[in-house]
Amino acid sequence: MKSHLPKLLVVSLLLIFFINCKKSQNTESETQNSTPKLRGETSEPTEKHFAIVIHGGAGTIKKANMTSEQETAYHEKLQEALNIGYAVLEKGGTSLEAVQKAINVMEDSPLFNAGKGAVFNSAGKNELDASIMDGKTLNSGAVAGVSHIKNPINAARIVMDSTRHVLLSGKGAENFAKQYGVILVEDDYFHTERRYNQLLKAQKKDKVSLDHSAFNTHELIDDHKYGTVGAVALDKNGNIAAATSTGGITNKKYGRIGDSPLIGAGTYANNNTCGVSCTGTGEYFIRTLAAHEASNLMQYKNLSLQESFENVIGQIDDLGGDGGMVGLDKNANIAWYFNTEGMYRGYKKSNGENVIQFYKK
Ligand code: ASP
Repeated sequence: MKSHLPKLLVVSLLLIFFINCKKSQNTESETQNSTPKLRGETSEPTEKHFAIVIHGGAGTIKKANMTSEQETAYHEKLQEALNIGYAVLEKGGTSLEAVQKAINVMEDSPLFNAGKGAVFNSAGKNELDASIMDGKTLNSGAVAGVSHIKNPINAARIVMDSTRHVLLSGKGAENFAKQYGVILVEDDYFHTERRYNQLLKAQKKDKVSLDHSAFNTHELIDDHKYGTVGAVALDKNGNIAAATSTGGITNKKYGRIGDSPLIGAGTYANNNTCGVSCTGTGEYFIRTLAAHEASNLMQYKNLSLQESFENVIGQIDDLGGDGGMVGLDKNANIAWYFNTEGMYRGYKKSNGENVIQFYKK
């Protein structure tokens, strides 16, 4: 009798082979479903570096115009902001918390055009804007045109965490923030002599300006300093966050909203590419969608973060705008670029680097 054993063996082996193939296909599609990848994503960050980069605004920041006391004051405040953000990251905290805390330091200082040191609008009022973005989920929150919130970035964070919305403005934003225990202040909290004098000077220039309809920000800002603050961080889990807070620009029209509270214009974060915070003539950063444009250039054109910043500021320069941007990518590479005389800026990284600079090199 002829044995059927070899045939049976071959059939069984083939069966086992097919079952295994099917299993591995399923596992693959389950993995893809549970962790959706965004377009352009290539690989996970290999090193667990963490870092924070901040700015305190761009403009005509020249060594010749600064006293050594002023230099020290800016240096100390930027270092304090970096240290506070860095400490959050070092303890394993999130990049969101790090950028928020770093910004709070600068918002509470009269040196910067955010929070306490916010500039005045044409009606002699302060209207503040801020935004924050989580590069892991692309969740974002922002407030615009608020006049009584001590730390607008905190309100932006609550909008992100506790609503289905991205941007709340004016009184509505203030009432909402109040319900969540955000500190509200009277009008006079933002009244600093320095900013008020800047408004008076700007208004004087406006009177002699021939074309009142032309919105020339260079005419409006007496010392050409924007002073907005921003922070971008990468935490130990590879998550990037970015945030920006501002008083806008001196003598801006009542109700004007700049780039800082607009996700994609003044602020953007995406774990697959980079985090960005901008400062400068907001209208140009809105028109170029500057922060998102930098991310796109990395994602679709394969540019480095530094190259993408140079490209975006080039576009802004061509349109007649000025300012700068700071950011970092998923591998903790830091970049900054500006077409003004200077930009208050600094970064601190887990590899020990700690840099603070003001002027063009
Ligand atoms: N970008 C801000 C705005 O246009 C101003 C600044 O950067 O200081 O509101």
